[in-house]
Amino acid sequence: MGDRGKLLCTFASVIKNDKYQVVIGLEVHAQLLTKSKLFCGDSAAFGAAPNTHISPITLAHPGTLPKMNKEAIEYAVKLGLALHCDIEQQNYFARKNYFYPDLPKGYQVSQHTTPICKNGTVRIKTGEIVRHIRLNRIHIEEDAGKSLHDANDLYTSIDLNRAGVPLLEIVSEPDLHSSEEAFAYVTELRRLVRWLNICDGNMEEGSMRCDANISIRLKDETKLGTRVEVKNLNSIRNVKRAIDFEVNRLIDIVESGEKVLQQTRSYDADANTTFSLRSKEEADDYRYFADPDLTPFNITDEFLQRVKASLPALPEELEKKYKTEFCLADYDAQVICGDKTLVDFFEAIIQHTNNYKAAVNWLMGPVKSYLNEKDMDISSFPLSPQKISTLVQLVDDGKVNFSIASSKIFTALLAAPLKTPLQIAIEQNLLQETDSGSVEAWVDEVIAKMPDKIKEYKSGKKGLIGLFVGEVKKISKGKADMNLVNKLLAEKLN
Ligand code: ADP
Ligand code: MG
Repeated sequence: MGDRGKLLCTFASVIKNDKYQVVIGLEVHAQLLTKSKLFCGDSAAFGAAPNTHISPITLAHPGTLPKMNKEAIEYAVKLGLALHCDIEQQNYFARKNYFYPDLPKGYQVSQHTTPICKNGTVRIKTGEIVRHIRLNRIHIEEDAGKSLHDANDLYTSIDLNRAGVPLLEIVSEPDLHSSEEAFAYVTELRRLVRWLNICDGNMEEGSMRCDANISIRLKDETKLGTRVEVKNLNSIRNVKRAIDFEVNRLIDIVESGEKVLQQTRSYDADANTTFSLRSKEEADDYRYFADPDLTPFNITDEFLQRVKASLPALPEELEKKYKTEFCLADYDAQVICGDKTLVDFFEAIIQHTNNYKAAVNWLMGPVKSYLNEKDMDISSFPLSPQKISTLVQLVDDGKVNFSIASSKIFTALLAAPLKTPLQIAIEQNLLQETDSGSVEAWVDEVIAKMPDKIKEYKSGKKGLIGLFVGEVKKISKGKADMNLVNKLLAEKLN
């Protein structure tokens, strides 16, 4: 497309964006990290050989009975509390009846009229704007098995390992108004489920899944437009791309005077397009009824209190604490709080030092660069948080400066993680020279070397001090104690 074409295109979308409001509601499924399935002892782990986690209960053999997994309830309550939901204390499970080959029982056990969490909000930030997206509900349900359509040319294969694995379905109100907001919303939910350690949040592996309901309406319209529901969004980026595509498609339909059909569509990431799976004229009839094999369950006040007490500090509060109490930069606080494992590492460093700023500098500088370079997670980082705190201490004590510590000592430590930073500093002769005699000799050498510059300095060009300090640093190979250098220079020149 030429520049002119691009310009026209941008122009058109500005007009359209001015005319229509985009409305999005998201349904996110989060597979819970419980050891066993929702109603039996089969392992809920991902990635095992097909059909190895399938007891007669998973296979729905006659005469088998379900037994509820208490851990799943606890996880649901955790998320509900973290999202400021009302927790339903009188619960029951219902059967949602439909036929599909990956559903051995012929019904899915789900919560129908009593979702365990109601209301609540998800805080999102796009640019500088903070919004609280209302939740409709969070309910517990069991997952279905998996149909494998390309494992065999002639048949569809079924893997029932996933059948019965506990899920939370997190349903938002139609409060989101752009693909950026949807992106921020899913990112926030993923951070939170990982933070609480209730779901691994891996969209690529399907342990977190998202369906996007999208409609558009004229800006001053109050009634919701007809929605389409887009499935198969297997990354947060694809949630955004699919919404962008779909919004343009809906606008084109409306602009050409046609009517939007309520449809379920699928996203094809390779082609960046969506296609219709089915049209929904009327609501499905699942013939819900309370599962007679499962007794209703009550959440007691004690249980609720216990879960509440077990919640870790949440990212939002922690970010605030880091900024106000620890005086960290907004960006640093935000990056660290983006990931619980980073927070845990940071908190472990500051067990041993009060120099929060230095701890962050180590984490955001040398440590992060190393992790990026090795494409590694902080959980497999070879040095302990305590070792990093020792490095912080070594610099704070004036034994080495940060640049030597972060280049030479850090690298040597990575090669020999059992050594102490001090040991390496001594072995490699990197300790700062704090002996005033030797430092004075370096300072004098520099003064003698640069008579012209010294003259300029004395006649008022005070900025030159940096040059002298740098020169001392250079001839001392970084070993001169800089506090002492500054002091001596000041004495000799002023
Ligand atoms: P269903 O169970 O049929 O999928 P729900 O009423 O539970 O339908 O809604 C599912 C999701 O769709 C919710 O997140 C809701 O906010 C969203 N939604 C409903 N109507 C619209 C609409 N007109 N435009 C955008 N999103 C919508
Ligand atoms: Mg739906």
